[in-house]
Amino acid sequence: MEYNICEIFDSIQGEGSWLGIPCTFVRFAGCNLRCSWCDTKESWSDGILMIEDEILSRIHYPHIIFTGGEPTLYSLQSLSEKIHQLSCFSQKPQIAIETNGTNPVPTGDAGVDWIVCSPKPMANYSIKCEPNELKYVVDDEFTPKVIPPNFLGKIPIWLQPNNADFDSSVQKCYQIAMNNRDLRVGVQLHRLYNLK
Ligand code: SF4
Repeated sequence: MEYNICEIFDSIQGEGSWLGIPCTFVRFAGCNLRCSWCDTKESWSDGILMIEDEILSRIHYPHIIFTGGEPTLYSLQSLSEKIHQLSCFSQKPQIAIETNGTNPVPTGDAGVDWIVCSPKPMANYSIKCEPNELKYVVDDEFTPKVIPPNFLGKIPIWLQPNNADFDSSVQKCYQIAMNNRDLRVGVQLHRLYNLK
């Protein structure tokens, strides 16, 4: 099976519950949305076609993150299963996915272990997967009313400052979180430390 890949690189996870963990990131090309403040617009274009073995050979850490673009545009079962079977690490590899929530996400041995869902205004904040954590980019339009109440207090829910309007977004995140104990203000450690 072939995948259109933007890039594969190693770095720490700079946000969310896997914060600080060294990971291999697999960035899939293509997205079904066009968010105005998208900070990975390069992923909208075609990348390089890779077969599974090429991807597997570039995995250097037992924590792997599927990101994009939107990785759920691809069938992920076969690749996930092969990653889980890698025996070169002292622990079973764990896969997280960063998704915009517009598609279901496979889980289990032929799927991912951790789902980070960032619902988007362009998709009416729809959530078609079963997230382990939620992340909302806080722009001028964002209101906590878009967060489904059934997730509040059950899973981590991050308010992510919008890089296109950073200072005012940080203030808005702060104000919202201080008025809602179920929400957390997120950080992007890789930007703070100037890492990839
Ligand atoms: S869903 Fe993510 S990758 Fe796609 S346009 Fe929006 S911010 Fe960019």
